[in-house]
Amino acid sequence: MKIKVEDIILDSDPRIREKSQDVTLPLSEENKELLQAMFNYVKDSQDDAIAEAEHLQPAVGIAAIQLGVPKKLIAVLVPEKDGVHQVALANPKIISESVQNAYLDGGEGCLSVKDEHPGHVFRHARIKVRGYDLLTDKQTVISASGYFAICLQHEIDHLSGILFYDHINPDDPWMEDEEAIVI
Ligand SMILES: [Zn+2]
Repeated sequence: MKIKVEDIILDSDPRIREKSQDVTLPLSEENKELLQAMFNYVKDSQDDAIAEAEHLQPAVGIAAIQLGVPKKLIAVLVPEKDGVHQVALANPKIISESVQNAYLDGGEGCLSVKDEHPGHVFRHARIKVRGYDLLTDKQTVISASGYFAICLQHEIDHLSGILFYDHINPDDPWMEDEEAIVI
């Protein structure tokens, strides 16, 4: 199974607002294959040569609902200075979050969103996420901060049908949070 750009649904498709359901563990072969294909898409999309050859839109994460599949499956791959943070999670759940916020200075983007939605998206600066990680074949708790934490929250939002621009203040899109970490 290989995911192509055409497989990804846009926010004009009402399915993007569907709530995703827990998957059964251990993962079925079908769900394993889907989750692995999602991870591979993200990984390949960050390789310039592959992305160009296969017309992949670059991404740091994807949720199954973006393929029209309402299952709690997400893949995230974030290259950062301290190394690559990568997960392919089933049933991810945020179990703790910092009071302090963080946000991307330039705003967020999404494979399912073509229109511009400028503005700050405030996220928790640090989170702990519990879930089953296909990459390590383990039930795990991930402590994430910085860009990785933002990406995880973006993907986990998809499982509730929430898009990044839902978080932008329509009256003051570039509002500041003095306490927040700017990334
Ligand atoms: Zn997204």
